[in-house]
Amino acid sequence: MALYKEQSLKLYNSISGEKEIFKPINEGHIGMYVCGPTVYSNVHLGNCRTFISFDLIFRYLKHLGYKVRYVRNITDAGHLENDADSGEDRIAKKARLEQIEPMEVVQRYTVDFHNTLQKFNNLPPSIEPTATGHIVEQIETIKTILEKGFAYEVNGSVYFDVFKFNKDHNYGKLSGRTIEDMIANTRELAAQSDKKNPQDFALWKKAEPQHIMRWPSPWSDGFPGWHLECTVMSTKYLGEQFDIHGGGMDLKFPHHECEIAQGEASTGKNPVNYWLHANMLTLNGQKMAKSTGNNILPNEIFTGENDNLSKGFSPSVARFFMLQANYRSILDFSNTALLASEKGFNRLMDAYRNTAALPVSSTSTFSVSEWKQRCYDAMNDDFNSPILIATLFEAVKFIVGVKEGNEQITLEDKELLQTTLNDFIFDVLGLLDTTVTNQDNSDKLSGTVELLIKLRAEARNNKDFATSDQIRDQLMAVGIQLKDGKEGTVFTLEG
Ligand code: AMP
Ligand code: ZN
Repeated sequence: MALYKEQSLKLYNSISGEKEIFKPINEGHIGMYVCGPTVYSNVHLGNCRTFISFDLIFRYLKHLGYKVRYVRNITDAGHLENDADSGEDRIAKKARLEQIEPMEVVQRYTVDFHNTLQKFNNLPPSIEPTATGHIVEQIETIKTILEKGFAYEVNGSVYFDVFKFNKDHNYGKLSGRTIEDMIANTRELAAQSDKKNPQDFALWKKAEPQHIMRWPSPWSDGFPGWHLECTVMSTKYLGEQFDIHGGGMDLKFPHHECEIAQGEASTGKNPVNYWLHANMLTLNGQKMAKSTGNNILPNEIFTGENDNLSKGFSPSVARFFMLQANYRSILDFSNTALLASEKGFNRLMDAYRNTAALPVSSTSTFSVSEWKQRCYDAMNDDFNSPILIATLFEAVKFIVGVKEGNEQITLEDKELLQTTLNDFIFDVLGLLDTTVTNQDNSDKLSGTVELLIKLRAEARNNKDFATSDQIRDQLMAVGIQLKDGKEGTVFTLEG
C-alpha cells in the first residue's frame, strides 16, 4: 500500500491562511509548479534556500509514494527591472553591458543554476520549460483573455484590466490586499503610461526600437509580460487546475496574484488548489538580494572566501543549516549558526554510520516504531523539517546510549532504525554523507573500474565483443577511458 494512504499530510495553504489536509485532484498523482529563476546572474544563497525548500517538499511527496510532476520554469524573457511594466529587460540589460547575445546570458546562468542546485543535491524537476520556448502559447492565452473581455490593447501593448476582473472576481485574495489598498500604495502616475489604471498589468508589451528581445504578435513586435509565462506553462503541463503552486514569499504579490487573475480570466477556473510560499534568507537582518549586493554566493560558502565566513562549509552542511529552520520562517545567515550546524550534521552522520555495528539484545529500551511515526508526524505537519531533525536527534542520543552500553536494541529494531534513518536523512532531507573522505572514494572507484576491466577481458576471451565494447563505451561516457597496452589495461579519468 502506498505510504500516502497511511499518513495524513497537512499543508499550509497561503490562500486560506490555514493548514489543510492535502487531497490531490487525481488520487496518487500530484501536479506541482514552482517559479524558477530569472537567469541574468549567478544564483545567491537566498535563491537556493527557496529551491531547497521545494526540493524537500518534492522529495517528501515522492517518498509518500505520490507520482509527482514537478514543473519549474526558467525565466529567460519578459522580467523587467523592478518587477514593473516599464524599464529594461534584466537579461537584455546584462547582454548589453557585456556585449554578448541575450541567449548567451541565459545559457551561462542556467548552467550555473543547475550546477549549484546539483551541489546541494536538489533533484531536477520533471519539466523545466522556458518563457522564450512558449511565446506562441502566450500569444494564444492573451487572445483568449482579450476575447473574454478582461484585457485591452493600447498602442501595440495589451494590458490586463484589473478593475473589470475585480467586479465579479477577487483580485487580491492571495495577498490579502484590496483594490483600495493598491490604489493608495501605487506610486505610478497614470499619465506616464498607456494603462487605464496603474494597477493593470502587461500581458504583451510593444518593444521599443532598442529592445532586442522581441517576437511578432497580432498587436506589435514585442514581448510577453512577466506574469504570463507561469500561467501558460503551468496550464500546458499540469492542466487548467492543478494541485500545488510554490515560490518565494516575495512573489505572492503581484506575481502570483496576477497568475490567479490570468488563469481565472482565461479558463473561468481557479487554477491552483494549494499555494505554498517559502520564506526568505536574510543576511545581517536584511533580505539577501541580487540588486542590493547583500548576498552570499554558494561558492563563497564552499570555499570560505567571504568576509562573513571564518572557513568553508560543505553543500550538505549549508543544506542542513537551512533545513533546521521551517520553510515558512525567516532564516538569518551567520557564521556562528553554520558552525553549529556543522557540529550537528557530523553528529548525525556519525550516529548513522555507527548504527550497523550496534550490539543487539533481546529487548529494546526505546520504541523505534513510535519514533518512526513521530518522524512522519513532523513532516506531515506542513513539512516541519526542524521538528524532524530534532526527532532524528532523539535516535542519535539512543544510538550513543546503545554504543556505550546504557541502552539496548533488538535486531529487528536495529534494522528498522537503519532504514528509517536512511529514508529521512538521505531520501527526504536530501543530505549527502560528505564525511566520507576523497581517499575512500578513490579506493572505491579504482576497485570498481578494476572489476569492470576484468569482466571486459573475460568477455573478450569469450569473443563476446558486444559486452566488452559496452563496458568500454559506457565507462567512456562517464569520463573513464580505458587504454589497452602490453602490461594490460589501464584507466584514466578525464577532466
Ligand atoms: P528570481 O531569480 O529573483 O526570480 O528569484 C528566484 C527565487 O528565489 C524566487 O522564488 C524568489 O522568491 C527567491 N528568492 C529571492 N531572494 C530570496 C531570499 N533572500 N531568500 C529566499 N528566497 C529568495
Ligand atoms: Zn512564476
